[in-house]
Amino acid sequence: MTAYDYDLFVIGGGSGGVRAARVAAALGKRVGIAEEYRYGGTCVIRGCVPKKLYVYASQFPEHFADAAGYGWTVPEASFDWPMLVANKDREIARLEAIYEKNVKGAGGETFHSRAMLVDPHVVHLLGDDRTVTADQILIATGGRPAPHPALVGHEHCIFSNEAFDLKQLPKAIMVEGGGYIAVEFANIFHGLGVETTLVYRGKEILSRFDMDLRRTLHETMEKKGVRILCHAVSEWVRKRPDGRLDALVTGGKVLTVDQVMLAIGRIPNTENMGLEGVGIELSKTGAINVDKYSRTNIDNIWAIGDVTNRVQLTPVAIHEAMCFIETAFKGNPTAPDHDTIPTAVFSQPEIGTVGLSEDEAVKRFADIEIYRASFRPMRHTLSGRDEKMLMKLVVDGASRKVLGAHILGPDAGEMAQLLGIPLKAGLTKEDFDRTMAVHPTAAEELVTMYKPTYRVKDGERV
Ligand SMILES: Cc1cc2nc3c(=O)[nH]c(=O)nc-3n(C[C@H](O)[C@H](O)[C@H](O)COP(=O)(O)OP(=O)(O)OC[C@H]3O[C@@H](n4cnc5c(N)ncnc54)[C@H](O)[C@@H]3O)c2cc1C
Repeated sequence: MTAYDYDLFVIGGGSGGVRAARVAAALGKRVGIAEEYRYGGTCVIRGCVPKKLYVYASQFPEHFADAAGYGWTVPEASFDWPMLVANKDREIARLEAIYEKNVKGAGGETFHSRAMLVDPHVVHLLGDDRTVTADQILIATGGRPAPHPALVGHEHCIFSNEAFDLKQLPKAIMVEGGGYIAVEFANIFHGLGVETTLVYRGKEILSRFDMDLRRTLHETMEKKGVRILCHAVSEWVRKRPDGRLDALVTGGKVLTVDQVMLAIGRIPNTENMGLEGVGIELSKTGAINVDKYSRTNIDNIWAIGDVTNRVQLTPVAIHEAMCFIETAFKGNPTAPDHDTIPTAVFSQPEIGTVGLSEDEAVKRFADIEIYRASFRPMRHTLSGRDEKMLMKLVVDGASRKVLGAHILGPDAGEMAQLLGIPLKAGLTKEDFDRTMAVHPTAAEELVTMYKPTYRVKDGERV
């Protein structure tokens, strides 16, 4: 082992890579890690963290409006986009420094450089123009927004990376895509006062989530003023003499906007890294193929996180890192568990969800009970805001297990985290029923829906 410079070399200093490097170093392993851009990776620098800060920023206009019903008079508000961007930059720089410091503090060595594989034990650090050797190599290079070269005028479009740092807040934007990133950004821009159009080629936004939530969110967003065009794509984007953009969307409508943001998926970072030369197998989409322990087809090379295109979420990348450490360094082979992952969409209103959607459950189980409540949350009574909260439990009639829990409304993400525990534990509807409610909360609805709203037997609603 000591013939190598490192016991472990990690390529990519994002959520997964930093966790693996830090924990391996804390175990006393000799660890090196290379990051080509900024430590913290997508989540910290241009993903979850800045996104959530912008979500908070975009919610204030509604808070100001809602305050009136509670007796407050709020003077006319104004918004300073460059100040938000600068404050966000300060916060992510703080987090970036912590990420790197934690690796160093555990005894790891950090490099600011792009890394490439030269052979199964040799990594070339391009920035430092040096080569290092390692017994084990972990690839955690994440992904990036999928480009859209077929779109005429794609060079005028931005992606989520650029959206965080626009010099000016646009007056009007078109966001193309129907996944959570597109939906979240559409809500952010709308909340900040930007005239927003969401264009999605599918029949309803947020595929793979429960249809009830998708439809209700769609309606609520439209009621707030976001324009949503489904079954539509942009056909070309042209720059106008006044610097604005014209975008032709399906159906012949031309939208004039200041920015077109494409959020049509993400692709793994596997190019120009020497992977082919070393013989690492990739999938058709360019993701690294791994076995259930995150090992590639080369024995000492592993891959975790978005670059493997399993489930593209920060906690999943971190979990895969921890399983990798158990397997590679603790003699305890541990496969990551990708089942029943709670997740949120920070739309407005928010979605929190865990487990099977109604449609998925109906495909897999003969007798499904749906418990559904749609109500105005208490905070909207005095505010007068005409917005409903939706809660839904999907229960297997035979085993009584709660298979899915889906929430649309304030704090849904926080609730999904807690619901992840009983669903992971396989608890039954009766376990929910005998749990005392917390009153007055919105979440109490989850333990007080005693009668099924409807059942679905052999695919038929009864
Ligand atoms: C806009 C947006 C919002 C998101 N919101 C959420 C959310 O709310 N919740 C959630 O759970 N997830 C969210 N995600 C997803 C989350 O950010 C990713 O799943 C997570 O960051 C994946 O971690 P990773 O370690 O696999 O990769 P990354 O965090 O992407 O890190 C990979 C790192 O590798 C570096 N790198 C790449 N190639 C090389 C190379 N050759 N040499 C050296 N370094 C290299 C990159 O610069 C990058 O820093 C969001 C993503 C985006 C884009």
